[in-house]
Amino acid sequence: MSDVRRRVPRTDALLAEPRLAAAAARLGRTLVRAAVADAQQRVREGALPPEEAADAALAALPETAGGLREVLNATGVLVHTNLGRAALSAAAREALLAAAGTTDVEFDLTTGRRSGRGTEALAALAEAVPRAEAVHLTNNNAAALVLAATVLAQGREIVVSRGELVEIGAGFRLPDLLASTGARLREVGTTNRTHLADYAAAIGPDTGFVLKIHPSNFATTGFVAAVPVAQLATLGVPVVHDIGSGLLRPHPALPAEPDADGSLAAGADLVTASGDKLLGGPQVGLVLGRREPVERLRGHPLARALRVDKLTLAALAATLRGPAPPVARALAAEPAELAARAARLAGSLAAAGVVAEPVASEARVGGGGAPEVVLASAAVAVPAGFAAPLRAGRPAVVGRLHADRLLLDLRTVPAADEPALLAAVLAAHRSAPAG
Ligand SMILES: *Cc1c(COP(=O)(O)O)cnc(C)c1O
Repeated sequence: MSDVRRRVPRTDALLAEPRLAAAAARLGRTLVRAAVADAQQRVREGALPPEEAADAALAALPETAGGLREVLNATGVLVHTNLGRAALSAAAREALLAAAGTTDVEFDLTTGRRSGRGTEALAALAEAVPRAEAVHLTNNNAAALVLAATVLAQGREIVVSRGELVEIGAGFRLPDLLASTGARLREVGTTNRTHLADYAAAIGPDTGFVLKIHPSNFATTGFVAAVPVAQLATLGVPVVHDIGSGLLRPHPALPAEPDADGSLAAGADLVTASGDKLLGGPQVGLVLGRREPVERLRGHPLARALRVDKLTLAALAATLRGPAPPVARALAAEPAELAARAARLAGSLAAAGVVAEPVASEARVGGGGAPEVVLASAAVAVPAGFAAPLRAGRPAVVGRLHADRLLLDLRTVPAADEPALLAAVLAAHRSAPAG
């Protein structure tokens, strides 16, 4: 035993190894120490030759100290909630990185005085939806709804259709969220049908607002009826419309998805939405609408608790003003182009001895949006055994298992990431050739 002990490289010697010392300077000593300790343990167990300890520790280090690993989304689900929803555009990433230092987020560099916070992001949103008299930003859409309910309906009633009381995922239910503000939900209509008269009968002196929630993650068909915003706007009380996905204008591929401009045109007083779904930006809640209610939301003490940070403000401004983000590009991709890319990629893989075949695929919007919409796509099918080694790779690759094969759907892989995808599959092939 003492023999083995002696052969385990010493911690200080490993930490002094130039590459590991450089990594410690970049990532911090904690992560490097942990990787070194793991490598030493493997040497102790006889699973690693002592002279390979430094290499093993180095290989086990994360790319960054952020604790999140980079993933290539080859699932064909455009807005994948578990993969962080929208991937930011290069412009937004650059803006975010630049904002990470000391910035003028609340400072006017011309006058040297304090300024409004995040004015550029707010201006970018206002430019994108000129119909909105005013805009405000919150931590996410759920926060926007909490703020609206608190400011406009605390101790009063929110009138909402029984067909729109949705669970948005991970057990979070909008009715519970709204009730947590001290507003009372006044449910009207039935699961499948709600009429204007149902709303009208429920409205009274206690009404804070009528809420319309886009049932974004499910669809009802058959004997159904819902009341459009244009009709709700005739009721004489404020109308708040949670459109969910953050489309600012109608999208030709998503005819059933409401958009902010259309909802305001129809008469909504406030529209709330997420920034990291179809808008393709950072996690943020968008509030757009008439000046008076927006200003009331902005002025409430809770607005401070729900405000967004400088990184988000920078990323949102760049998403709105910069080139189309990956989600928008993925939505717009031509099936024929995707098929050509799949054929090329499968060819490169086959030439390297990987069992790979281009196949037709069906991509989805995801993120609880447009559940009915199927986007024609193309994928490379590889044996299912590739799934685990690909998830372990750097970057990790997550595909979609289908009929005993792993599909790597190219609609969600930007063309610029294709070399990285190819390299990842080849690396997985080398690590588990049976794959
Ligand atoms: C996604 C969604 C939400 C929640 O938005 P977050 O930005 O995740 O808080 C609320 N309402 C609808 C209709 C949604 O689709």
